[in-house]
Amino acid sequence: MAATETIAPPRVQDKKMLIDGKWVDSVSGKTFETINPSTGDVICRVAEGDKEDVDRAVKAARKAFESKACRTMSAAQRGRLLYKLADLIEANAKELAALETLDNGKPIRDSLNGDVPATAAMYRYYAGWADKIHGKTIPVTGPFHTYTRHEPVGVCGQIIPWNFPMLMQAQKWAPALACGCTSVLKPAEQTPLTALRIAELAMEAGFPEGVINVVPGFGPTAGAAIANHPDVDKVAFTGSTSVGKDIMKAAADTNLKRVTLELGGKSPNIIFADADVDTAAKFSYFALFFNMGQCCCAGSRLFVEDKVYDQVMNVITERAKKTKLGDPFDHATTQGPQVSKEQTETIMRYIESGQREGARCVTGGRRVDRPGYFIEPTIFDNVRDDMAIAREEIFGPVLSVLRFKDLDEAIRRGNNTTYGLAAAVWTRDVAKAHRLAAELRAGTVWVNCYNVVDTAAPFGGFRMSGLGRELGEYGLANYTEVKTVVVSMS
Ligand code: NAP
Ligand code: MG
Repeated sequence: MAATETIAPPRVQDKKMLIDGKWVDSVSGKTFETINPSTGDVICRVAEGDKEDVDRAVKAARKAFESKACRTMSAAQRGRLLYKLADLIEANAKELAALETLDNGKPIRDSLNGDVPATAAMYRYYAGWADKIHGKTIPVTGPFHTYTRHEPVGVCGQIIPWNFPMLMQAQKWAPALACGCTSVLKPAEQTPLTALRIAELAMEAGFPEGVINVVPGFGPTAGAAIANHPDVDKVAFTGSTSVGKDIMKAAADTNLKRVTLELGGKSPNIIFADADVDTAAKFSYFALFFNMGQCCCAGSRLFVEDKVYDQVMNVITERAKKTKLGDPFDHATTQGPQVSKEQTETIMRYIESGQREGARCVTGGRRVDRPGYFIEPTIFDNVRDDMAIAREEIFGPVLSVLRFKDLDEAIRRGNNTTYGLAAAVWTRDVAKAHRLAAELRAGTVWVNCYNVVDTAAPFGGFRMSGLGRELGEYGLANYTEVKTVVVSMS
């Protein structure tokens, strides 16, 4: 597919929700608007799910989970359905990329060359696992044949954010469906469109009615109803740390549903003077500004060794100037709008706080004077560790650069955060790289690279960045219960 082929913003009809294999209005009849962040215009209206809709969806998912269709479906057949869905995603790649760019604002070159292929790859990866999920036989003492069964955990409530809508849906659905679970998924209110379209493709692939349900709506209503539902066996959430805490409390207060959380971060990205400094600096720009700074693993604290500080600052400020900010449907665009007005206002408040607390804004710092939610790529130096911009997740195109002198200081300050999602180290010294990889308290440590996330490799957070691991073989454990069977042989 030519990367320069023109893709126009699609026209989109109003959307219903998917419950029990049917496209339905909400019980209340309410709808909400989804907005195009590059213009601020309404794209379409979407059925607004609430407690009652979630309840209907959970009942459908329970019925499907217990149905003959699901109980008798072979693991290989589940795999085939997932492969089929991946094929359908690829066959509709341009449409899906355009929908994602329209609803989220990310540049079309990223949605087409990144999000869509990664989504298809995720379904394929877990399709392959479907018939390879099995227990063990265990040599216990005595005349007993003991084995384990890895059974599906049941009805899963899955709540996802707006930064990678299609990919986050795949990250939730692919392992759950491979394990034989059923799902009630709530997409983010800002970006419901690709989740609904992929649900349509999943029905076309042949998943039985009720196996997947999509209830668009708002967090405090539809999202909370999922977290509080007594018949949801497991909740998987990606989003902010504060909502993650609410989800855990709700799970504890209802039925102790299993919980996995993928939350925020304030990831340290550390450049040593012995690195290939120009390459490190170039990728460190990407580490933060990719996806408009809206990545949970964004390298938002860039630590640079004293000796190469000016060299790094030169490279990253040059790249900020070369950034092509504008219409995300233009193939030349590298930075689109932020996802929403609210996020834009939050980011601008952080930029003001950085200035107020005495950091130096080297480049950017302003909203762009055009419709939509565009913010200039913004770089602060003279940042101190105690400033809000160095401690809190901004989730926007704002990079804090911090200076350090030696390795111990880099480790200490890198770990000086309540988060622990990712970290990166740039050095040519193998011993130093491994020492940092061991000592940095983060779920992923990148050495001489950044943002390398693969379906096959586990991803998740230490500390307040989350609970559990998604992706890879580790991700399967979230969707299975281990049952021990003991058979007397005497
Ligand atoms: P958020 O509120 O945590 O949203 C994530 C998802 O949770 C959305 O689907 C949201 O619904 C839902 N939700 C919200 N409140 C809920 C509740 N009480 N119970 C159940 N579900 C609930 O995040 P946000 O407001 O979109 O963004 C705020 C900040 O979160 C960002 O600035 C960023 O720091 C962080 N964030 C992190 C990630 C990540 O990948 N880790 C992704 C997005 C945001 P709605 O559809 O109503 O929003
Ligand atoms: Mg929200």
